[in-house]
Amino acid sequence: MNEKKAIVVGAGLVGTLWAILLAKRGYTVEVYERRGDIRKADIVGGRSINLAMSTRGWKALEKAGIKDKIREVAIPMPGRKMHSTSGELIFQPYSSDGQSIYSVSRAGLNLELMNIADQFDNVHFFFHHKCHGLDTRQITLSFEDEHGQVKEVSAPLIFGTDGAYSAIRSSLQRTPRFNYAQQFLDYGYKELRIPPSPEGDFAMDKNALHIWPRGRFMLIGLPNQDKSFTGTLFLPFEGAVSFENLNTDEEIMNFFEEYFPDAIPVMPELLHDFHNNPTSPLVTIRCSPWQYKNRVLLMGDASHAIVPFYGQGMNSGFEDCSLLDDLCDRYEENWDAIIPAFNNTRITDANAVADLALRNFIEMRDLVSDPQFLLRKKIEKHLEQKFPDQFLSVYSMVTFSHIPYHEALEETSAQDKLFQKILAIEDIEEKWNSTAVDHLFLDWIEQQNLVAQ
Ligand code: FAD
Repeated sequence: MNEKKAIVVGAGLVGTLWAILLAKRGYTVEVYERRGDIRKADIVGGRSINLAMSTRGWKALEKAGIKDKIREVAIPMPGRKMHSTSGELIFQPYSSDGQSIYSVSRAGLNLELMNIADQFDNVHFFFHHKCHGLDTRQITLSFEDEHGQVKEVSAPLIFGTDGAYSAIRSSLQRTPRFNYAQQFLDYGYKELRIPPSPEGDFAMDKNALHIWPRGRFMLIGLPNQDKSFTGTLFLPFEGAVSFENLNTDEEIMNFFEEYFPDAIPVMPELLHDFHNNPTSPLVTIRCSPWQYKNRVLLMGDASHAIVPFYGQGMNSGFEDCSLLDDLCDRYEENWDAIIPAFNNTRITDANAVADLALRNFIEMRDLVSDPQFLLRKKIEKHLEQKFPDQFLSVYSMVTFSHIPYHEALEETSAQDKLFQKILAIEDIEEKWNSTAVDHLFLDWIEQQNLVAQ
């Protein structure tokens, strides 16, 4: 490939980050975005306003040179704070050594990424350009601008980062042997704001991800820089306790009084938000291949949208960028090698994190208030501390490491078996850090090593 030119479709989180990494390599990058410039208008895009950033995301931001800047405004959340129906609070750290996940503003992050991208002379943004799709014979893209003008453009490399409802992926779906599956949960989500307290402070502990787990559904809250929290209610669309049955003020207030009484005083705008904010669906998207003729590649939600329960959607999309950047080094920018290599390895990991995220929904809504589960988490931390070279919980693998997601998923059932045995120890509540636990663990490790040989 002689011409170092690329088109990126979608200036969301992943597209803008990827444009920066390409620009750093000297590519001329045209970034086409359906919406206007978020730096000029108050556009958040109707999606959640804050996101949990963890190790995989930070690595990619470091490559782009903005890790420190974002870290300054990110709010560390070293654990979950569980709210019981009676208002009791339990804090559960995420790691054995005080590591945190971080709440970052989606719009703020996107904006910073765009500012960095704009510092490169070789990055050009085209806002108000809606992609209609890819002509797979000519490998050209068609865009419609805000005046209704349609234009065709092309480049040696095209990256589809246009999100879960990707136009590029739709075009690829019409090519032979393209696999595609979308799965909606029976649950939707609605955002409900928790503003700063009347004294102008955070209304709850800011250094925690707040969870109100209620079995079949849950409410969560993440802190924002302006001292508010974004609360998100995850609830079935239909059924006895569901969005379809929460219509009147009375129904909504009764529901909150029954399940989330301690949230009511911190949500003065509850009824307004409930009536006015959308109820949005939750989708998992899997597809393959992600590439076409070694020239077109899907990344981020366009190829692997996942449910938000492991906080890994953006993180995995950012990891796409850092892995692809690593492959550029390894294959000296030979895209005929890079694109197939990425496609061949990354899809397995994307499918794995999709499964992990679905599984974590059950953990969050059901288990986080279960004493057995809390005990397991305590023992996991004990093992991580005592045997740091031999044990890493699946949560830590996903959130605080770069271990491929498929390895974390494979480890899930092995760790479940270990904890079944440990939790069956008599009086385990008192013996959670005893030699009996250590012996079971060391036996398990030995078996694991035998299986691996
Ligand atoms: P998007 O952010 O969707 O960006 C796509 C861009 O393409 C947009 O700018 C869009 O306008 C543009 N576009 C779309 N169609 C076209 C077109 N036809 N032509 C031109 N442009 C187009 N992830 C985490 O890591 N941590 C979290 O805590 C977390 N929480 C979440 C909570 C919720 C409720 C939800 C829904 C998601 C959450 N995620 C989280 C996931 C995260 O939001 C996504 O994975 C991430 O935004 C994907 O980035 P992206 O750039 O691939 O897609």
